[in-house]
Amino acid sequence: MDEYGMCRLDDAPMLAGKLKHGKNIVFSFGDGEVNAYVAMIAPSFEVIGTMPFGGKPSGYVVSLLHHGMYYFTLDSELHPNYIGEKLNLALPMSRHVAEMLNAISEALHTKFLLTNANGVSLREDHKLSGHYAAVNARCHCGEPLLVAPVVLSQDGTKDNPTMVCYDHAIHSFRFSDLVQGRQKEPVTND
Ligand SMILES: [Zn+2]
Repeated sequence: MDEYGMCRLDDAPMLAGKLKHGKNIVFSFGDGEVNAYVAMIAPSFEVIGTMPFGGKPSGYVVSLLHHGMYYFTLDSELHPNYIGEKLNLALPMSRHVAEMLNAISEALHTKFLLTNANGVSLREDHKLSGHYAAVNARCHCGEPLLVAPVVLSQDGTKDNPTMVCYDHAIHSFRFSDLVQGRQKEPVTND
């Protein structure tokens, strides 16, 4: 995210993670210069009645404030012209929006092992010393976080593993509790 709280292309995996959890999302993004957009993407919706222009809405509904709304499958690369036609955008805006939607599509189909509701991921190709490591989260002590070896794991379940610090394994977390970036240091009472 940039200093104004607007999403960038590298936030696409986080956005995709929320969509994978079935959340409707509203977010802003820009080209870093003059154009800014507010988008909503809804992965889950009920279609009621018959559409007057034909077609059956399916996939993801994408709405763009002040522009248009359409539904996309987000399973292949979308051409800026197509986005422009469907969302009522001219160049270069259709290109900016296509870049963001394509980055989200790509993230939706990258082989992640797990992504939690905060957008923290474990990915097939992201390992340290043979253990899966969180792609975008680290411990409050600054170390990367790895899936705990079974012996350290209290109740290591497959979809919510225990995560521990890289070099000393003294701090541990449940995967579902991780947030992006550095974890907050727990408050202790001593
Ligand atoms: Zn630590």
